[in-house]
Amino acid sequence: MARGVVEIEVVPQSLHDLIHKIRHEINTTLHKCCDDHPFFGRIKRPDKVAFKVEFGLQTSINHSLFATNGTVQITLDARHLSVCDPGPCGRPRLDKVIYHELGHFIDARIDSAFAYDDAIRPTAHPDELRAMYVMWDSFIDGRLGLKAPYSLQERQKPAKTAALRKLACLAWNGGLKTFPDIVAAAKCATVGTGT
Ligand SMILES: [Zn+2]
Repeated sequence: MARGVVEIEVVPQSLHDLIHKIRHEINTTLHKCCDDHPFFGRIKRPDKVAFKVEFGLQTSINHSLFATNGTVQITLDARHLSVCDPGPCGRPRLDKVIYHELGHFIDARIDSAFAYDDAIRPTAHPDELRAMYVMWDSFIDGRLGLKAPYSLQERQKPAKTAALRKLACLAWNGGLKTFPDIVAAAKCATVGTGT
């Protein structure tokens, strides 16, 4: 063997075991988080949701097809899985991340009081979109309590201005309760930032 070259043989059985463990962790976590999600206290849970899970660089949820075919797509950063990163790492564990992502889905597609509307997403204005997520993420984690993946201080970190940090705090404490409120606040928070 040449110097510096490492030959690795992947034994098919061990790969199979790893895939099985990953599937099991995702399945059991999704079921648990759907069963005891705090937002379902006052909102009727949907009869059926088909989750499709894929891996990507960042964890996110896409619920845009839910009304059409009942599916919700979750993209997972695999580093939240305990089988991929079993040591203490400072990253929130999978269940907290899933509670948060489901929060976006429940707010947007199940809870009519949130008044979510795809048409008013500030997709053409990146700063407004980022500000919108700082507030929506804060609103979700504020309601998740101990199940939240991040603290208010962590949610405020991407905020470039004191005004947006203040609005994140307001959202965390339930002072911005609807999507139109959050979008309007995102617009105000980015006025005059010059981007
Ligand atoms: Zn989020």
